[in-house]
Amino acid sequence: MAVGHCKMLAMQRVTIMTYPAPVLRKKALTVERITPETRAFLAAMADAMYDDNGVGLAAPQVGVSLRMIVVDADDRLQPLINPQIVAREGTQTGTEGCLSLPKLYGKVTRAMRVEIRGFNERGKPVTLSGEGLWARAMQHEIDHLEGQLFIDHADPASLVWITGDKDEDGNLLERPTTLEDALHVFERQTLVRA
Ligand SMILES: [Zn+2]
Repeated sequence: MAVGHCKMLAMQRVTIMTYPAPVLRKKALTVERITPETRAFLAAMADAMYDDNGVGLAAPQVGVSLRMIVVDADDRLQPLINPQIVAREGTQTGTEGCLSLPKLYGKVTRAMRVEIRGFNERGKPVTLSGEGLWARAMQHEIDHLEGQLFIDHADPASLVWITGDKDEDGNLLERPTTLEDALHVFERQTLVRA
């Protein structure tokens, strides 16, 4: 199993990796020990999430294949270690994006309400429950720990690029795309950067 302690945890700054970084498709390992380095790493993840205006971020998204997430979907930062969904209720369908798939959005059906068990940054066992956007963000981030991305669950017909460009009335422009075309765009960007 596990790596509770690794060199990367000592990093004070982290960089968000984008698809097709292979770490995004790996199943993350259980965290065995929660140390001051773990807390520093979670704080660095939260900084990176806020810098990119995200509501959640998972450790694999910054290249660390360990079961840790941060979520702030209700003005309260929630770092979680080894989180597990223990109950789900109802459904909701709504638009999702991902900091590792910038500018791509799609509709995903999720449970409306979830109950989650895990450990906080002090190593204390916690049970949390919530609904709506909070529940959606938790499900999205915990999927990352299994190597899953929102595009695996999105309605393929709902995928759009939202680049921030607006029409004459000030509405955000959405450009429909297929999953295949979208993935090609990310793969090409990687080639250009390499
Ligand atoms: Zn994501």
